[in-house]
Amino acid sequence: MRKSTFLKWKIRQAAFITRALASTNHVVLAHIIPMRRCNLACGYCNEYDQTSKPVPLDIMKQRLDKLAELGTSIVTISGGEPMMHPELDQIIRHIRSKGMIAGLISNGYYFTPDRIKRLNDAGLDSLQISIDNVNPDEVSRKSLRVLDKKLRYLAEHANFHININSVIGGGIKQPEDALTVAERAVELGFSTTVGVIHDDDGTLKPLTEKEKEIFHAVKKLGNKDHARLNWFQDSIAEGKPYEWRCRSGSRYLYICEDGLVHWCSQQRGYPGIPLADYTMEDFKREYKTEKWCAPTCTIQCVHQVGILDNWRDPQMTPVQIRREQKQKEKERVGQVLRAE
Ligand code: SF4
Ligand code: SF4
Repeated sequence: MRKSTFLKWKIRQAAFITRALASTNHVVLAHIIPMRRCNLACGYCNEYDQTSKPVPLDIMKQRLDKLAELGTSIVTISGGEPMMHPELDQIIRHIRSKGMIAGLISNGYYFTPDRIKRLNDAGLDSLQISIDNVNPDEVSRKSLRVLDKKLRYLAEHANFHININSVIGGGIKQPEDALTVAERAVELGFSTTVGVIHDDDGTLKPLTEKEKEIFHAVKKLGNKDHARLNWFQDSIAEGKPYEWRCRSGSRYLYICEDGLVHWCSQQRGYPGIPLADYTMEDFKREYKTEKWCAPTCTIQCVHQVGILDNWRDPQMTPVQIRREQKQKEKERVGQVLRAE
């Protein structure tokens, strides 16, 4: 990444953080799925299929327009494998044309010099690739040995920010691979983070002593901004629950391939409302709703969004919110009757 592009990226980051701290009335980050299909089949993953078709471009544009209406700062395209979508570049262009930051999460398999240059032209701002191990095994083929050539292409041609995420937990056999991956990322000039892989319901799997040791070594190598934002991970690595306010369904949205809003990839079905019908009333309700799965949640990006509001606006359980709504409704009916 050129120095000038790096500076622009930092300035845009600072702008969205300032805006998010100044007001709670807009979406900070939305993950959108243009394609559930994936070319891989990682053993721990519950976010892919091998048959579905790409979401048509005009429908993607309508969804992006709605996200822009909700004031969204960053749209991250995820999957499945979004690089399999034939109109990915137009999707990125549309995000940028609405003034939003365009991010991409990919398994890295489809990067060639030409494909990277087209992503530069489309205006991609940032890319994250998760690499699970050094050599492919039956759990994961997102492997450094397979992807190293792609990483070299990216180092040479990409004009966008690149983060390499290594992982610990979730059945990855050689935890020390995370350190090898992180060292290679730093060597190529990328930022690096480490994630604790969730189990198949999205919650915590405690790390072994060896995994914990490697986890802390990789964190030391990593991006200092991310390390500051990811201090929840220290509790998670110890297997301890962590107290925070998850703002999913509000400041963070997960939009599936059917265009429904979900709390996140691991809590699909809540609230399960079509994005096209999503209102600020839904936004405000979810902002206030305490998520039962929060104490052991390992999803980094939602934690990072949560930090922006963790110091304000305590949440309530869904039961308390329903009670409050009923009480307000009673008061409203009472006022109408008294006026009559
Ligand atoms: S590459 Fe990503 S989406 Fe595909 S199976 Fe692996 S973890 Fe899931
Ligand atoms: S706490 Fe939030 S991000 Fe984490 S699993 Fe629950 S809804 Fe998803």
